[in-house]
Amino acid sequence: MTDELDPASLLVHGGRPAVEADAALSGPVVFSSTYVAGGPTGYGRFGNPAWTAFEDVLGELEGGQALVLASGMAACAVVIDLVPVGGKVVAPEHAYNGVTGLLKQQAETGRITLELVDIADTDAVVAALPGAALLWAESPTNPAMEVADLPAICAAANAEGVLVAVDNTFATPLLQRPLALGADIVVHSVTKYLAGHSDVLLGAVVTRDQATYDALALRRKTQGAIAGPMEVWLALRGMRTLALRMEKAQANAQYLAERLQAHPKISRVRYPGLADDPGHERAAKQMQGFGAIIAIEVAGGAEEAQRVAESTRLWIHATSLGGVESMLERRRRWASEPVTIPDNLIRLSVGIEHAEDLWKDLQQALG
Ligand SMILES: *Cc1c(COP(=O)(O)O)cnc(C)c1O
Repeated sequence: MTDELDPASLLVHGGRPAVEADAALSGPVVFSSTYVAGGPTGYGRFGNPAWTAFEDVLGELEGGQALVLASGMAACAVVIDLVPVGGKVVAPEHAYNGVTGLLKQQAETGRITLELVDIADTDAVVAALPGAALLWAESPTNPAMEVADLPAICAAANAEGVLVAVDNTFATPLLQRPLALGADIVVHSVTKYLAGHSDVLLGAVVTRDQATYDALALRRKTQGAIAGPMEVWLALRGMRTLALRMEKAQANAQYLAERLQAHPKISRVRYPGLADDPGHERAAKQMQGFGAIIAIEVAGGAEEAQRVAESTRLWIHATSLGGVESMLERRRRWASEPVTIPDNLIRLSVGIEHAEDLWKDLQQALG
C-alpha cells in the first residue's frame, strides 16, 4: 500500500504493525540476544524487529534496501571495507572529517590508496576515476557546503566501473535521492536529521543492488557494528515528523542565510538556497530543497568566530547537527578538520525554533 504514497505519508505510516483489531500502532522494542531455533533470524546480531521496521521505511524513501548500523561511522566503515586490498578510493578533501580520517588511516596502513579531490570540481573528480574501486561523495559537503554534480560524477564513475557511495546525511531522502541520480550506495548518519532529536547515535546504508546489499549485510553481521533496538525504535519515532521538521528548518535556514548575507560582521555565507551561491544551480537541479545547514565566515578571524560561537543564548554551542534545536560551532576547533577549511568558519545547524528568535540571538552574539 505504501508504494504510491508521498514520502511525508510514508514517514508517518511505514514500518508499523499490520492494522487489525487491537494491534499496537507502534511496533515493539524487542530486547533479546537470541531467538528460538527454526526461524529466519536466529540470533540478535542477525536481526531485530525494530531494525526491519526502520529499514523498510528508509529503504523505500531512498529507493533501495536499507541496513541500520551502530553509527554513521559504522555505516561508512562497512562501505569502505568493500574496497579490495590496495584498491583506490577517490574522496572529497572536505568530506565529514571522520570519514576522511578513516580513509587516511586506511591509506597509511596500505589497506587502500587514496586520492582526495575537490568534489565540486567535476573535471578533477572524473580525472581521478580511472583505476579506482570506490568514489566517495558527499553533497552538500560538511562543513564547506560545496555541491557536487551528482548525476555527472555518478555517470562518469559508472562508465569506469567505479562503485559510488554518497553520504546523504545533510539532504535526507526528502531532498535528494542519490540512487536515482546514479549512485550505488547511500550512507546516512541517522544520528542527524533522520532521528532528529539529538538523543541517539545510529547509521544506515542503502543500496539498490542485491550483491552489494548482501556484501554489506555480511559485514554488519561479522564485524558486529550492530544497532541497539531502543536506538532504532527512537530513530523511527523521530522520523515520523521528518517532513515537518525539514520543512520548518529549511524555511528558517533560507531566512537566516539571507539576513546573514547582509550582516557587516559576516564576510561569507555558503548556503545553496542563496541565488548567488556557487552551488545554487546544481542544487536546484538535483535536490528538492536546500536543507538547513549554513556555513558562515566571521570577519575578524578565528578568535572572533570562536567568541561568537560561545556567545549565543538560544543556539547551542555543540558539535553535531540535524536536531530540532539550533546548534553552531567553529569547525576548526577540532584538530581533525582540514586546514583548508577557513578557521573563522562557523557551521550553523538550523533547527525548528521561531526564526526571529534565532535571528535575534545571532545578532546579539555577533554584536
Ligand atoms: C555526523 C556525520 C557522520 C558520522 O556519523 P555518526 O553518527 O556521528 O557516526 C558521517 N557523515 C556526515 C556527513 C556527518 O555529518
